[in-house]
Amino acid sequence: MKYFDINLNLSEDDIALKEAARQFAEEVMRPVAKQLDRMSAEEAVAPDSPLWSFLKKAYSLGYHTLLLPEYYGGLGLSPLQVHMVFEELAWGSFGLALLTTVVCFPFYCICLTNNDELIEKFVKPYCDCKDGSIRGCWAITEPEHGSDVIAVGEDYFSKMKGNMRARLDGDEYVLNGQKSAWVSGGTIATHAMLHLQIDPSKGFYGNGVCIVPLDLPGVSKGKALEKIGQRDLNQGEIYFDDVRIPKDYMFVEPDFYVPILDIILASANLCMASWSVGLARAAFDEALNYCKERVQGGRPLIEHYTTKQRVFDMFARVETARAISRAAMNLNLNISPPHVEYSLVAKTQCTEMAFQNTHDAIQLLGANGLTKEYLTEKLFRDARATLIEDGNNETLSRHGGHILMETYPRGPLDF
Ligand SMILES: Cc1cc2nc3c(=O)[nH]c(=O)nc-3n(C[C@H](O)[C@H](O)[C@H](O)COP(=O)(O)OP(=O)(O)OC[C@H]3O[C@@H](n4cnc5c(N)ncnc54)[C@H](O)[C@@H]3O)c2cc1C
Repeated sequence: MKYFDINLNLSEDDIALKEAARQFAEEVMRPVAKQLDRMSAEEAVAPDSPLWSFLKKAYSLGYHTLLLPEYYGGLGLSPLQVHMVFEELAWGSFGLALLTTVVCFPFYCICLTNNDELIEKFVKPYCDCKDGSIRGCWAITEPEHGSDVIAVGEDYFSKMKGNMRARLDGDEYVLNGQKSAWVSGGTIATHAMLHLQIDPSKGFYGNGVCIVPLDLPGVSKGKALEKIGQRDLNQGEIYFDDVRIPKDYMFVEPDFYVPILDIILASANLCMASWSVGLARAAFDEALNYCKERVQGGRPLIEHYTTKQRVFDMFARVETARAISRAAMNLNLNISPPHVEYSLVAKTQCTEMAFQNTHDAIQLLGANGLTKEYLTEKLFRDARATLIEDGNNETLSRHGGHILMETYPRGPLDF
């Protein structure tokens, strides 16, 4: 169902973008997501999978460049527009919304560093790609380092040994190691944005970030990962065995690693928050529609007092989540460096609210809510994963607390 937008200042362009994304989510994403959800992880990426025609359609509409400025060939949307489109896409499918964005993430981050050579070599061809054949991924998590990767400021951050190393050899870096099975889009990506250790003597303060074309000799991939939720989102390991890249592909060296990690974390968490709003709204829609039809006690469920209250609480979560998520996106996509704590507030709160909404939706649908006949079952599984992905919520809150300790209270000039 359509929603009333509390923002009365939307332009005609804003509304058109929102409606187009809504139509794509309903007509293209939902049916494909349902099919992928019921396949094995390997079937979901096989050559005859509906995933490929989905990606082709998404790219042909420019949804793979939502985060990129027009100057480099992206859609050049305002933060509010990005948020509205993300919400709609995730209403269609959280996993596919994420996939359509993570394919862009390495190229988005290259733009943040204003590296003209890499923009020309990697970002422009990506923007021009209309068939889904260039796909990025973000490889930060390692088998031995999950929450650890964002533990900046903790005493162990300066002591950790990475599973992924880079050694300078003349004009090239030689890469060795592996990334975890959780890399979204990992087994289907053509390029990786890779976090790795350059100077082990500094622990993870000695890390860097590079772009790696994944057709280079020495790159191999694991199997697509089976998991409980977001099964329409491909994930898997990537291995690097003496992979050689030009020195210039290392676009973040240790000196700049912590500031760029903050920017990446802030951006990723804004995306997670906005998709969670779409997910929370999808659960609310399912519950409201069902409660208007299902009759118990001689009247539709929605006419019972406790049901009205529960549905209203779900509505309240959607509106609250959207308010904080839009505000954080508007702030942090407009300033540099970002105020990371607001992205963390948005991610942790919106994912918790989305999870609560999917839980309540199942409760309102009763036993039907547990079956594959109803969307609520998939929404619940998808929402469960959001509490962990892109940093589990406890770790993000701890990191947020660390930022408050270091930088609060902010003075007026900080804004
Ligand atoms: C759907 C999904 C998509 C993802 N996409 C990507 C991706 O695109 N790229 C990528 O690189 N990774 C990705 N990840 C990985 C994700 O970022 C990690 O799963 C997450 O950061 C948590 O790491 P972990 O799973 O290793 O858990 P751990 O770090 O092992 O944490 C397990 C538990 O221990 C607790 N814990 C951890 N450290 C501490 C501590 N110091 N003190 C107290 N308690 C602690 C945590 O709170 C948690 O409850 C994805 C994960 C999911 C689920």
